[in-house]
Amino acid sequence: KPMEGRISDIGPRDFNEFLPPVLKNNYGQWKYHDILEPGILLHVAESGDEVYTVRCGTARLMSITLIREMCDIADAHCDGYLRFTTRNNVEFMVDSKDKCDGLVKDLRSRKFDGGSFKFPIGGTGAGVSNIVHTQGWVHCHTPATDASGTVKVIMDELFEEFTGHNMPAPVRIAVACCLNMCGACHCSDIAVVGIHRKPPLIDHEYLDNLCEIPLAVSACPTGAVRPSKVEIDGKSFKTVAIKEERCMYCGNCYTMCPSLPLSDKEGDGIALMVGGKVSNRISMPKFSKVVVAFIPNEPPRWPTLTKTIRKIVDVYKAEANKYERLGDWAERIGWERFFEKTGIEFTPHLIDDFRDPAYYTWRQSTQFKF
Ligand code: SF4
Ligand code: SF4
Repeated sequence: KPMEGRISDIGPRDFNEFLPPVLKNNYGQWKYHDILEPGILLHVAESGDEVYTVRCGTARLMSITLIREMCDIADAHCDGYLRFTTRNNVEFMVDSKDKCDGLVKDLRSRKFDGGSFKFPIGGTGAGVSNIVHTQGWVHCHTPATDASGTVKVIMDELFEEFTGHNMPAPVRIAVACCLNMCGACHCSDIAVVGIHRKPPLIDHEYLDNLCEIPLAVSACPTGAVRPSKVEIDGKSFKTVAIKEERCMYCGNCYTMCPSLPLSDKEGDGIALMVGGKVSNRISMPKFSKVVVAFIPNEPPRWPTLTKTIRKIVDVYKAEANKYERLGDWAERIGWERFFEKTGIEFTPHLIDDFRDPAYYTWRQSTQFKF
């Protein structure tokens, strides 16, 4: 529906149009909420109205048939309403306990061939919620790793932590497939960041036809790109030159100029960061810190990545106090002990690098012992 005064229909429609009536009627007038069991929330309004929310995990990429099935469930139980969270969970909401019981029974009965749940219920409270993530190899042009594959294997590994409240505190995981980081990696308990390690290649012969050279130059945050000319087979081409020692492999220039590709099978991989959070509870919000400088891309199941995350989660689960987020725990015991206990090697690559302040790391105190 075109909005008044607008000449196009670009942009999303007003979210109020899509709110279930019980939410519309009680908007901003909620008395309290409770988590009844993992994945099932109760919100009670000042008016006495109740909303039961059932949260289910979804895969990173979904088929049309699975989405249609979600819509059928929403039609059958929720008057056609459903919502997706920023962490790619799908939430079904109903306004009575009876409806909630029927909904949960239906969701638990739906399984894939082979028996795994199509709609695993969980992702609340002191557990692992679904992963906030970016696009990956399928949809974006600058990824250094995949998002679909890594999200799938991590959540397969942490299925019990998703469907239970068996962690000391919430564990928020993020995946960003390049340093542009359009996910939430800078402040997640565990963050997977795709990194390139080689500068862009330059397709001199095509560059001037495919790119605006001033745009490619101005896209570089470190000033590594400058206009240039080359001779190839006696022909002169307008192009760019890259000062490699200035390059931080961010891929911004490639965003502006398709003749500057930087994907590389051996060079690309993953940095693992931990200890970030946005919550104010116990301590101030914190940035995530790099704890593994490079994990190679190992599709389809990324065994090194999942093994490392499993180890971190297990040690944190066993050792942290109740309500302590991963970063709070690591700070209490000392980051040196974090490396000892998880068996992760502290290497010189983890020392912060002036070229990339996005890696907010260790050189903050002479008391740090490594
Ligand atoms: Fe694209 Fe980078 Fe965002 Fe991944 S993190 S979707 S590669 S911009
Ligand atoms: Fe500059 Fe980033 Fe391109 Fe390197 S990858 S040349 S730092 S824009």
